[in-house]
Amino acid sequence: MKYIDEFQDPALARRLLDEIHAVTTRPWALMEVCGGQTHSIIRHGIDQLLPDNVELIHGPGCPVCVTPLETIDKALEIASRPGVIFCSFGDMLRVPGTDRDLFQVRSLGGDVRVVYSPLDALRIAQQNPDRQVVFFGIGFETTAPPNAMTVHQAERLGVTNFSMLVSHVRVPPAIEGLMTSPDCRVQAFLAAGHVCSVMGTEEYPELAERFKVPIVVTGFEPLDILEGVRRAVLQLERGEHRVENAYPRAVRDEGNPAARRMLADVFEVTDRAWRGIGTIPGSGWRLAERYRAFDAEHRFEVGAINTVEPAACRAGEVLQGLLKPHQCEAFGTTCTPRTPLGATMVSSEGACAAYYLYRRLGGPIAPATPVEATPVG
Ligand code: SF4
Repeated sequence: MKYIDEFQDPALARRLLDEIHAVTTRPWALMEVCGGQTHSIIRHGIDQLLPDNVELIHGPGCPVCVTPLETIDKALEIASRPGVIFCSFGDMLRVPGTDRDLFQVRSLGGDVRVVYSPLDALRIAQQNPDRQVVFFGIGFETTAPPNAMTVHQAERLGVTNFSMLVSHVRVPPAIEGLMTSPDCRVQAFLAAGHVCSVMGTEEYPELAERFKVPIVVTGFEPLDILEGVRRAVLQLERGEHRVENAYPRAVRDEGNPAARRMLADVFEVTDRAWRGIGTIPGSGWRLAERYRAFDAEHRFEVGAINTVEPAACRAGEVLQGLLKPHQCEAFGTTCTPRTPLGATMVSSEGACAAYYLYRRLGGPIAPATPVEATPVG
């Protein structure tokens, strides 16, 4: 398949690996901040092919995983109400809240529907004018534009029974948050190519300069990732810290201007809590004042939410790259995709799910239950 096969060529991969091995003289720790890249790395065994002293740390790049428990509990509360049709991508349905998940809400009679686009939810609202239709709008800069466009359309079409529960997150403030953590040992970043295809690269040079870290915009196929690693290691070995675009077939410096205009119109920057990490200033988007009528948090009075994270789950450490999934005691035993304790085991982009699906380091375990998953990037 064009744009896939040529980026999985084994001979070219071998050449890139040889070069990475040849230039590496010291230990380096690189972080990818994208669940899609994490899965590609684990699926293809890329981390096992690199020199022993080049470590890939899996960062908080899975949007489902970083959605705060409080937001999940709000979603569960709203979805349980009579008269509400709650629409979500499939990944969110098994993410555990404090005491249940959306599947359980559905089994108890809640009208929870899996959609493949926010526009599907808007259409459901138009078809059901006597019901309140809520879309769970989560994700990084990649899913934010279609969600923004859907709210814009709802206003334009006058669909007043539609609202969105928004929990969008932004990558650059997360990089800043990680780099200012006292536990941080990241020396270079592989920036997510799809995020940069929307937002461009303009936010990264200041971060690279301030924290003296190379940032290499990287794609998702094996050769993309190896090229990102090669460029990052070369910079580290040379003592450089620049932004490089190793994914030029999809990323321009300015990103996607039309998408960025839509984001600027519909959303405004806000502080956002990241599950397992805490609040990172300026790391999220919420609906701008002009669109507040479409904000599900404003439309539905949700009382005080008391969240309780499972004590055994160490997803916060996994998301910060302080722990590899198989180092969690619950991995593959009490925590599996069938019985997840944390979102990182549920999501199709979660690091724990990737280790479980491709490594099975916990021993022979039954295959995961397929979920109706739409990557939310
Ligand atoms: S393996 Fe399960 S319990 Fe452990 S960190 Fe991952 S999601 Fe949490």
